[in-house]
Parts: sequence; structure tokens; C-alpha cells
Amino acid sequence: MTDVIDGNAVAESVRDDLGGCIDTLAAAGVTPTLATVLMSDDPASETYVSMKQQDCEEVGIEARDIELDPDAPADRLFETIDDLNADPDVNGILVQMPVPDHVDDRRVLRRIDPMKDVDGFHPENVGRLVAGNARYKPCTPHGVQKVLAAADVETEGADAVVVGRSDIVGKPMANLLFQKAEGGNATVTVCHSRTADLAAKTGAADIVVAAAGVPEMIDGSMLSEGVTVIDVGINRVEADTEKGYELVGDVDFESAKAKAGAITPVPGGVGPMTRAMLLYNTVKAAGLQADVDVSLP
Ligand code: NAD
Repeated sequence: MTDVIDGNAVAESVRDDLGGCIDTLAAAGVTPTLATVLMSDDPASETYVSMKQQDCEEVGIEARDIELDPDAPADRLFETIDDLNADPDVNGILVQMPVPDHVDDRRVLRRIDPMKDVDGFHPENVGRLVAGNARYKPCTPHGVQKVLAAADVETEGADAVVVGRSDIVGKPMANLLFQKAEGGNATVTVCHSRTADLAAKTGAADIVVAAAGVPEMIDGSMLSEGVTVIDVGINRVEADTEKGYELVGDVDFESAKAKAGAITPVPGGVGPMTRAMLLYNTVKAAGLQADVDVSLP
């Protein structure tokens, strides 16, 4: 029987655990606060931000919503970040990507105070992660680690293949999996768009993390029996539905499930975990900034 991992249930248990941490902070007079900054009128970005705010409110994190005109000069965004950096009541800052073309997104990441960088994308936090001393693990790969742990998948000594080498998923995922730490100690191969024979790599893996953004590119024929498949991909494909599209992962679910020991679905797999780990990082940020030991799970 293949274990179809319920990301919603794992995310729920992460949120439950955070409740105790938020109570500890409340006893110290601290309400964790996340500021989201949206400089876009893209409906998908608007939806992502409003979901993040709703998640915050549900667990008792204060959400501050800042919206900037996408045509405003880049300095408007940088000044907003400076103000949030200086505001002692704000623990976490999230600038929803992508920002408009006239704004240098790398400058945005560098501008956020690393202590408030709950996405974990500031170069200081990336460096700490690579050095094995992470402050804020990026939400999606951290969520994958939690899912693997919840499904009792042993990473130590496993051959793991990460498909994708982006800064937000592939690279930090590979790093977390090979670190000498709990949830790590795997032997990691990173595949990407120039990989010569992807099927040979995925077919030899104990764990495959698919984060390429290519609909259903990994199917059962590319996997070994008993493999653990974590599908990070979220792709809109045309479909005969009310919305005119449906969401699919990077994995062809049915054929992969026939081979896998454990697999995450799309939707309902990694997506909810990404959202939960943003809450986790915000609570961690509040604890660090207030010097309160919140005993994070
Ligand atoms: P990206 O486009 O920045 O990176 C994709 C990576 O995949 C690149 O490094 C590229 O080299 C590699 N790639 C592309 N085509 C390939 C191929 N044919 N074979 C092998 N490698 C290939 O994307 P991203 O931001 O890392 O996101 C990846 C996917 O994950 C997207 O579908 C995105 O929507 C999804 N995503 C989901 C979550 C979540 O919470 N579940 C979070 C972030 C991203």
C-alpha cells in the first residue's frame, strides 16, 4: 500500500504545536507580527498574500498588510522595508515575489533585516543555511523536511534526487538534505534543465523531490519500487473545469503512486506545509527578537 501523505494534516499538527509557542510569547507580552508587502496587481500574488494573512490570523499571529502601487518607484518599496525593519512590533517581513520589473529583486532581499527575513532568502540567512547553522529555513524545503519526518522516511544514508536548482526550492532543499543534522545526512544529487539523463538519476533514488515547474514530467517509469516522491510542483494546466484550469504537480501521480512507497499529492501535499512553515518562522523570529525561548517543535 502506498502512503499518500496528507500535507494538510501534517500542516495542521505544525500549527497546533505553534499554538503553545504563541501562548509562551503572549505570556511575555509579545504578539508575533508578520508584515506582508504586495507590489503587484497579479491575482495569483494577491491570493497568496491574502492566504498568508488568513493563516496568521487563525493561529494568533498579527498580520499587517501593505500594498504598494506596482507603478510606484522602487524607492517606495525600499523605504517601506526600512520602516518595517525599524518597527520593533514587526517580527517578520515578507515581500511577495515577483516584484515589478523596474525593482531589482536581489536588492529587495538584501534590504530586509536578516532577523526579520522569515522567507530565509537574505544572503546572510542563505549563508547560515549552507554553513549548517540555519536561522530561518526557507519555507518550502523546510516543509518537505517536516513531511518526510511525519511520514517516517529516513533521510540518513538515503540517495535523494532533487529535481530543480532554484534559489527558493532546489538549492536550499539539497542543502537541508545533505546537512549533518536531523532530516539530513542523505547523499544528494541535484538535477536541472541540463541534466543528461534525468530518468537514470530519479530511477536510482530512494527519495525524489520534484521542483521543476514542468507538469507531470516525472512518471512511474522513471522511479524505483518503494521510492518516496515529494511533489513540490504547482502547475496550472488547461482543463474542462469551471475555472478553465486545474492544478497538477511535476509528477504524474497515478503512475508514480503505483511505484512509490510514499507520495505527496497536488494539491494537498507540500503547498499547505509551505504556508505552515511561514508561521513557524514568524514565531521563531518573534522569540529571537524578544529573547523568549518558545521551544519550537
Ligand atoms: P524555477 O522555475 O525557479 O526553477 C525550476 C528549476 O527546475 C530550474 O532550476 C530548472 O533548471 C529545473 N528544470 C526545469 N525544467 C527541467 C527539466 N525538464 N528537467 C530537469 N530540471 C528542470 O521554479 P521554482 O520556483 O523552484 O518552483 C518549482 C515548482 O514548484 C513550480 O511548479 C512552483 O510553482 C512550485 N512551487 C511550489 C511551492 C509549494 O509550496 N508547493 C513553493 C514554491 C514553488
